[in-house]
Amino acid sequence: MLKERPLSEKITALDGQVFDVVVIGGGAVGCSAAREAAAAGYSVLLAEKGDFASGSSSRSSRLLHCGLRYFEAPNPMRYFARHPARFLTSLSMARQAMRERRELVLTSRERVTPIDFFFPIYSDGPYRPWQVDMAFGLLKRLAPGDVPLDYTRLKKPEALQKPMVAALGNRAKLAGAAQFTEYQFNWPERLCIDAVLDAEEAGAVALNYTEARMGDMQNGARKVTLHGPDNAHATVRGRRVMAMSGIWIDKVLSAPGKRASRKIFGTKGGHIVIRLPEEYRGQGVSTINSWGEPFYCIPWHDLHYIGPTETPYEGDLDDIHVDEHDLEFLLSETASLFPGLGVTRDKVIRTWAGVRPLTYDPAHPKGSRARELHDLGPEGLEGVYAMTAAPVMSHRDSGRKITGVLHSGLSPSGTASALSYRPRLPIENSNAQPIAEGAGYTLADVRHAVRHEHARTLLGVLFRRSGVGLRHWFSDAEIARVAEEMGAELGWSEAERETEIDRYKRDITRLYGVPNRRDRAETNDDATIPQGERA
Ligand SMILES: Cc1cc2nc3c(=O)[nH]c(=O)nc-3n(C[C@H](O)[C@H](O)[C@H](O)COP(=O)(O)OP(=O)(O)OC[C@H]3O[C@@H](n4cnc5c(N)ncnc54)[C@H](O)[C@@H]3O)c2cc1C
Repeated sequence: MLKERPLSEKITALDGQVFDVVVIGGGAVGCSAAREAAAAGYSVLLAEKGDFASGSSSRSSRLLHCGLRYFEAPNPMRYFARHPARFLTSLSMARQAMRERRELVLTSRERVTPIDFFFPIYSDGPYRPWQVDMAFGLLKRLAPGDVPLDYTRLKKPEALQKPMVAALGNRAKLAGAAQFTEYQFNWPERLCIDAVLDAEEAGAVALNYTEARMGDMQNGARKVTLHGPDNAHATVRGRRVMAMSGIWIDKVLSAPGKRASRKIFGTKGGHIVIRLPEEYRGQGVSTINSWGEPFYCIPWHDLHYIGPTETPYEGDLDDIHVDEHDLEFLLSETASLFPGLGVTRDKVIRTWAGVRPLTYDPAHPKGSRARELHDLGPEGLEGVYAMTAAPVMSHRDSGRKITGVLHSGLSPSGTASALSYRPRLPIENSNAQPIAEGAGYTLADVRHAVRHEHARTLLGVLFRRSGVGLRHWFSDAEIARVAEEMGAELGWSEAERETEIDRYKRDITRLYGVPNRRDRAETNDDATIPQGERA
């Protein structure tokens, strides 16, 4: 058992308190909402049932994309001519994407990496070269040019000079390629942690490993019960409750026994991680898979990841991983995209999967990507709001929209403060021992993560706070060293330290393992996995 006494005490001490806003869910949306609301002067409680960013926000394709995908359709001209309203929605989403891209690149350069992307154009494909020119021309006009797309349309001979394009299949039908700059989040989990720290600096109370359940209204504020480790619990009240709980929104909304209509349509997306030869480094491909869905091969340090899949998901929301079916699909799509690269299952180093919290809309059988902020008042949940289909890349705007709703009807009980959105970098301590060679993260950072960034588990430090885990395979000795450092801070006994190391290894296998190499008998032993790490 992990020692969580300080956290349980923190929870118990909140009993009876009233907040302007209770935010349920510490993913990209909830953390950003907490930051914006706290900075606007509202008293804020942010409760996350697992670790911050342990939900969909840590399972995405990590793209800060330019919005090209919103214009992708099997026959775009005919499709949008038939559905002009959808064209306007796509245009507005693309504008939003270009704005987010610009803001994040200009203000959080340390958190994003530019990648050289190629979009192949085939003579028998859905897009003519002029249509691709038109789409990029449109995107260019949607935001100021200080974060350029660097768009060039390459004719076939030029395109084939690029190793990534030369590796593509169906070369006989290749008419050329669009080359452009796309951005990637270095690690989206850290955006969430940074937002939590900003929110706290602005006065918010932030709790991870604390499940929140909504109750009834009492004297103008809604009851929310908090359930944390060691049976710690408390009842607080929120004048507004923001259910920013991603794929769990319908579950959260059903807690008070009211029948809110369905809000979420979840689609699962999986990725595989592979190592390609050196010549492909830094280059990626954005294309359409055999189902007509966007499909990417994305550079990631000295690796690449390929995906995502897109299938409706009705399974266990707390146990999402790439299964055999996803893996087969990803391998077969990869084989037709890059037939010469020999990407077979034994070349897959890691996998991961997540479920997109898309907006439920019967008119969209695969869920709607239109972000919506739902007011639950008309459905009997006065003062409750929920946001669906909000991508990581729009998290700042989502936070501002949510705070905008607060402003229309609730005055902040405190004073506003300015936000800098300054990325929090590892602490400077050149004498401290790195957690692994070249990791750029030290044991001093581990101590800092436990003391000041709510880290409670090895996964929380090695993957979410440091971002090193996805690109580095820690040796047993490295894991043990970090566990020792954390244990000293959290008061773990030797047995507790060993339990945590075992749990970490199981979590890694379950969340990032390759299906045929996963020992499901062991990794399905969810009873030993803390609730916080199960999603
Ligand atoms: C395969 C895939 C690819 C994607 N690619 C991209 C991309 O390239 N770029 C991009 O911008 N977006 C992408 N997305 C979308 C993006 O990941 C999600 O839309 C976004 O992370 C949603 O954030 P969220 O905060 O709403 O949800 P989440 O991150 O899931 O956060 C919700 C949180 O609520 C918590 N919670 C639930 N119930 C409770 C409760 N009762 N009490 C307390 N806490 C609770 C959960 O533990 C969870 O941490 C992708 C998603 C997937 C799955």
